[in-house]
Amino acid sequence: MTLPHPRELVRTLEFTAALCNRRREGALDTVAALKAMCADYRFPGASGATRADAAAAWAHLRTLEAMWDADRDEIAATANRVFKQCDARPHLVRHDDFDWHLHGLPAGAPIADAIAVNAAMALADLVRTEDTARLKRCSDDRCLRMFFDLSRNRSRRFCSTTCQSRTNVAAFRARQA
Ligand SMILES: [Zn+2]
Ligand SMILES: [Zn+2]
Repeated sequence: MTLPHPRELVRTLEFTAALCNRRREGALDTVAALKAMCADYRFPGASGATRADAAAAWAHLRTLEAMWDADRDEIAATANRVFKQCDARPHLVRHDDFDWHLHGLPAGAPIADAIAVNAAMALADLVRTEDTARLKRCSDDRCLRMFFDLSRNRSRRFCSTTCQSRTNVAAFRARQA
């Protein structure tokens, strides 16, 4: 599949959605959970994370989740606030199997701020390219998980095939009744 954005940008947005979804589901309230998520998405700098780091990360995730649901102008304004609050210092890095891409803070910065600034930079890229319509929530109102829509015509409605088929079955039953 051809991605609508660079692979590392997509990865950052999917990481942001996954963190916010887990936090909302209450499945991300330990340092171990934060470290595991960072490892899954190859997000560096979490190995020494403490409970205070995790608490700071959860606080930032509320802001990032609000940005996901916001309009383009609001996303821009909030991104600027995050850059200022976390003292963003963008620089190019290459790590794991990712070629040159921007990180918002130097290695060794607090992990919560690094997550927030990187997410805000990714969201700022969508503002720039007028593609914030890809920031979606699952249409199944029992789910509402955040996801980044990679479809060509931005038409995806569900976070997963599970939610899609559950909704289709419910619609079918409603028609039969
Ligand atoms: Zn990176
Ligand atoms: Zn869903």
